Amino acid sequence: MAKVPTTFSFASEGIDPAYQSSVAERPKSVSKMLAGLICFFAVLMSASMVHAACKSGALGTHRTLPVDASKFRTFNGTEKALGLRDKEVILTFDDGPIGRNTANILKALEKECVKATFFFVGKMARAYPHQVRQVVRQGHTLAHHTHGHEVLPKYSTKKASRIVDRGVKGLQKIAYGDSSHKPRTPFFRYPYLASSKRTDRLLAHKGLVAFGANIDSLDWKIKNSKRIHDNIMRQLKRKRRGIILMHDIHARTAKMLPGLLRSLKAGGYKVVHIVPKQGGTQIAMGAVDEPKKGKGKSVKRRTKFKRLSNRQIAKLSAREQKLYWTRYWYVKRGRKIPRHLR
Ligand SMILES: [Zn+2]
Repeated sequence: MAKVPTTFSFASEGIDPAYQSSVAERPKSVSKMLAGLICFFAVLMSASMVHAACKSGALGTHRTLPVDASKFRTFNGTEKALGLRDKEVILTFDDGPIGRNTANILKALEKECVKATFFFVGKMARAYPHQVRQVVRQGHTLAHHTHGHEVLPKYSTKKASRIVDRGVKGLQKIAYGDSSHKPRTPFFRYPYLASSKRTDRLLAHKGLVAFGANIDSLDWKIKNSKRIHDNIMRQLKRKRRGIILMHDIHARTAKMLPGLLRSLKAGGYKVVHIVPKQGGTQIAMGAVDEPKKGKGKSVKRRTKFKRLSNRQIAKLSAREQKLYWTRYWYVKRGRKIPRHLR
């Protein structure tokens, strides 16, 4: 993350009091209560499944926190209505995915059996689509961060709306094979945390919640991994709970993460996994299958390849047999058959 523009207000300034008071409302009808119960058990089951898969001694995900996007406009982790308890933290990563660093972060999270939230940039997702799907498959929360990391308040509302939609649509297409710009996970973080009342209204209109953070790792500025770790732990000691902001694009962040997770465990901190209240656990399971290796064209060509029986192969000349098996070798691996073999 580069320098934060000073002219903008920050998403982390707190939530709209109107939204805060409406959180107190509870569903009254029986059907709503039933839906709530089902949701509760789904979350409970997913939490127990998470724990079942964890090795002993791992930090582990303490609990899943479902958030109703319609009740909030923004939050930064400190709000009472959000419900974070003492020593509970939410891990968040922005700006990825990117090759080895995101891969190492996912490995570290998996090793300690903790779930995080990733705010991916559409352009980056396009470059590393398999990592987007991996995030969803591993049960982390996949959230939005625009298509090209734009400073949203700089644009007209119409243009800003298109930017947000493009990011959501692009990411969802990769993650779930879904071309809709209606967000499945209604979580968003402003690039540079740059927001305005106008963009807040725009997000609310789209049903998106703007995530802030009360514990900024400053990993975009601090170059040393130990200092990033210490910076987070120092803030935690003072604030005791909240949303930790990190960036999976930095090697130094990936390097310090295993140590940070160990320090969290040693310090008695608990990791909370934040999910959308509507369909949160199902979304986590919804990643599309990894496409077969090779481009669409080669798959098409592969269908043109005709498998022959052993008897049919035996009837071919030695040269034809060799050609057949070479073509078969490419098809079997989902690769494009070279022009001279077609
Ligand atoms: Zn960012």
